Amino acid sequence: MRRFFVDKNISMGQRVLLSGDEKRHMLTVLRMGKGDRLILINGMGTELTAEIVSVDEDEVTLEIVDEMPCTSEPERKVTLFQCLPKAGKLETIIQKCVELGVHAVCPVFSKRCVVKPDRNENKLVRYNRVSHEAAKQSGRGMAPDVLPVRDLNECTFSEFDLVLVAYEDEEEVTLKRILCENREAGHIAIIIGPEGGFERDEVDRILRSNENAHSVSLGKRILRTETAGMAMLAMLMYELEG
Ligand code: SAM
Repeated sequence: MRRFFVDKNISMGQRVLLSGDEKRHMLTVLRMGKGDRLILINGMGTELTAEIVSVDEDEVTLEIVDEMPCTSEPERKVTLFQCLPKAGKLETIIQKCVELGVHAVCPVFSKRCVVKPDRNENKLVRYNRVSHEAAKQSGRGMAPDVLPVRDLNECTFSEFDLVLVAYEDEEEVTLKRILCENREAGHIAIIIGPEGGFERDEVDRILRSNENAHSVSLGKRILRTETAGMAMLAMLMYELEG
């Protein structure tokens, strides 16, 4: 069944009115009508089956007929801290990482970032729309937030119980080993450098200020920045989500 995101904390027996883009998509693109059923996602971890009970010029009225836990959300909440890549790559990174189960994406500005932070609100709206669409397409139970850009050196990672810096110069510690030693981690931060990589002191600051932070290797080959985040997320989900 088709899935639609609603921002409402809705539950069984309630009626929901949809208008605007969602209504247009439902009626015009998908040619749905009275009696058709669909899944509503409210971002609260449940999936609600709804039936179209009436359609008028401005809105569609839906009735919630069933409710079940959303099974497509990972148990771990992984936040990707992505150092700003060259123009045009961030949307692809967001899209693929949403499909792979990321919980949130935080663009960060580090010393070797080529592009300067663009704090234009429209950009953030666009990035969150990319996340929303990827979440719908991949059947997620929520649309991950893309957060406003931050300076890497101002990021604290205190809310995470595991912090993993993908460091291209790390030759000892592997991602696999750290994941095997931290299977219970529930809130995980993964940090990916820009095309030029990390400065050593950027990595050292993160390791010094977070006892549960590790620099990890993603393997013998150097991945592009736009590959590294999704590869790390896929490996992490494979290892921890089974
Ligand atoms: N300029 C760096 C160099 O030539 O060694 C490469 C940086 S790489 C293109 C961009 C980012 O991807 C790195 O900062 C790191 O976060 C991640 N990355 C890529 N390959 C990696 C690997 N084999 N191990 C750990 N991290 C890696």
